[in-house]
Amino acid sequence: MQRASALITGAGGQDGFYLGRLLEEKGYEVHGLDKEGHESRMEAIAPERRWTVSLFDTAGLANLFRRIQPREVYHLAAFSFVNTTSDEDRAVLRNNVEASHNVLSMLFDELPESRFCLACSAEIFGNADHSPQSEKSAIQPCTIYGVSKAACHHLVGLYRMRGFHTSSAILFNHESPRRGPRFVTQKIVRTAVAIQRGEAQELCLGNVDTVRDWGFAGDYVEALWTMLQSDSPEDYVVATGHGHTVRDFAGLVFEKLGLKLDDWLRFDESLARPPESFPRVGDASWIKERLGWKPKHDLADLVSMMVDAELQRRSDSSDI
Ligand code: GDP
Repeated sequence: MQRASALITGAGGQDGFYLGRLLEEKGYEVHGLDKEGHESRMEAIAPERRWTVSLFDTAGLANLFRRIQPREVYHLAAFSFVNTTSDEDRAVLRNNVEASHNVLSMLFDELPESRFCLACSAEIFGNADHSPQSEKSAIQPCTIYGVSKAACHHLVGLYRMRGFHTSSAILFNHESPRRGPRFVTQKIVRTAVAIQRGEAQELCLGNVDTVRDWGFAGDYVEALWTMLQSDSPEDYVVATGHGHTVRDFAGLVFEKLGLKLDDWLRFDESLARPPESFPRVGDASWIKERLGWKPKHDLADLVSMMVDAELQRRSDSSDI
């Protein structure tokens, strides 16, 4: 029997890695798409199934869809920073909204029986007036990134109304050893390990009292897959339901390394963002009730994974 094929856009990123691995384990023929020059980042994808068609090349996308006939498309490709400069704002809107529309519309034209999942973001809730946030919470983004993801979320809804099997996964923060250093979790882990090695003297942070609902990326890609197996497409919040402050996260990291956070922490005003009125915590009870998904890892597991991976990475690099 021929294997079902799946396509992951943004396959070279954190989530693309975990999703590629998961789909491979499940027996799919997994294809990955990323920017030209990013082929080597698509580590979880077999080299002959790594593609670099631009998301702005609609004819190229149509050709790719005809050629590989994906039964499922996971659209992860996005510019994913919240705290953007005004130059980055234009790139965020173009890369996230226009590119997502190209993927959705070309897929619907070519393969209307396929299934599409968007990796959306809790940023669409902006500065919410309640906590936790669920699928019923108002969409009122307060960053350009949030606006771009809200537009993608609505595009998914529009194509679903047109009869296409599309779903939006409203992902709360999800991290892993593969998280980039611009995000606070990885910044804390890398700096703490550097302090332990005597290579850094302080950890500079902005708001340390902000609450985030941090999950493990490997659990969240299972939610994406589970969503596409359901015959009735819907949008779901994907979260752990537990909020922790940035200070809590840093405290766990430093403790694991035998260090006292307060000896090293420094407030840097230039890193501070406007405060949020209600904690950014997700209510994922709907996906649990409807599809049976729940996270397998908690914050302590995540901290252990990230710290152990960084210690390993640093010891590997000093062996060279
Ligand atoms: P976000 O939730 O997508 O904004 O993810 P981030 O990891 O970038 O930030 C999480 C929280 O950490 C935000 O509330 C930031 O205000 C806070 N934070 C405090 N200091 C820093 C910092 O130095 N870098 C980043 N990225 N965030 C910081």
